[in-house]
Amino acid sequence: MTAALAALAPLETIPGLAVRPGALLRDYTRFRLGGPCHALLTASTEAAYRAAHELLLASGLPWTTIGGGTNLIVSDAGYPGLVLQYAAAGLTTHGTHVQVEAGADLNALVDFANAHGLAGLEAMAGIPGWVGAAIYGNAGAYGQSIAERIHWVRFVKGAQVVTYSRAECEFRYRESIFKRHKPWQILSAELTLSPGDPTALAARSAEIRATRDAKFPPTMQCAGSIFKNLLLRDLPPETAAQVPANVIREGKIPAGWFLEQVGAKGLAIGNIRVAAYHANLVYNIGGGVTADLVALLNELKQRVHARFGLVIEEEVQFLP
Ligand SMILES: Cc1cc2nc3c(=O)[nH]c(=O)nc-3n(C[C@H](O)[C@H](O)[C@H](O)COP(=O)(O)OP(=O)(O)OC[C@H]3O[C@@H](n4cnc5c(N)ncnc54)[C@H](O)[C@@H]3O)c2cc1C
Repeated sequence: MTAALAALAPLETIPGLAVRPGALLRDYTRFRLGGPCHALLTASTEAAYRAAHELLLASGLPWTTIGGGTNLIVSDAGYPGLVLQYAAAGLTTHGTHVQVEAGADLNALVDFANAHGLAGLEAMAGIPGWVGAAIYGNAGAYGQSIAERIHWVRFVKGAQVVTYSRAECEFRYRESIFKRHKPWQILSAELTLSPGDPTALAARSAEIRATRDAKFPPTMQCAGSIFKNLLLRDLPPETAAQVPANVIREGKIPAGWFLEQVGAKGLAIGNIRVAAYHANLVYNIGGGVTADLVALLNELKQRVHARFGLVIEEEVQFLP
């Protein structure tokens, strides 16, 4: 371990790389939960990111990547390795195409596209986090998802930089090939959008942001919806038959419907609670611990399984 850490000493000399030894990961997640890592490395350029990535690969130490930390549950013990963040955030446009670096804020991308009269992302306004993670988890809302607009994604695969087309990214609902290959690091992407009216696009985004802010107050310590919605086609027929037709939207059933049936609303363990108004929203009221969050999620999964025979799956990502 000491030799491996010594091999990482050159990290300190990489231009454009901020090194924070012992960073407390709760300070970098919206849930405000989780312990320290060996060091948090934040790269502001692609060269810095790739240089740090090479050293991490060579060290043999555990490492992982985070973005804006809005979809992460970090263990109370923290992460026993290094955490890499790619914060380059460039945005450029040519015609109906937008190129974006993975560290750009998703909302900055939405506003940039709207301002250039480019439609296709406006309904994703208000989803927090960075573009790299939005691609990794195929983020979406209100009938739009990032996958629909991806032209290509450029990423680091081992020592190489590779570009995949949308089809090669194997996007599905909240899934992509990147979720199944954690060491692959998304650097940038090109999106293909449609011509639109900047004023109308901005108005649609503002309306959606207002609705979302009422549901997820900006200061709430949470990860948005905690469980993935369920695809109707994946449900056993006897379970599907119990779901009222007015609950089904775009072939999906909100996980919140199942959770509500098992009395999730308002349930709490320690300082972690299910919102009283939204059964799929779990939050830290302040001073919570990850162990209580995990216990609460297990209780919710167990209740849904006992009543419906269904395994609900977290949308949120765990570290480690
Ligand atoms: C209030 C609220 C509302 C939300 N609403 C929605 C919603 O409507 N729809 C939706 O889809 N999501 C929603 N989310 C979830 C979250 O915003 C998205 O999942 C977002 O894309 C996460 O971005 P992030 O940068 O914070 O990622 P993080 O939480 O930092 O990381 C998430 C995952 O992405 C991986 N990752 C990060 N960067 C890269 C990279 N460059 N290359 C490869 N992997 C990477 C990480 O390893 C990690 O596993 C919501 C969250 C909150 C807090």
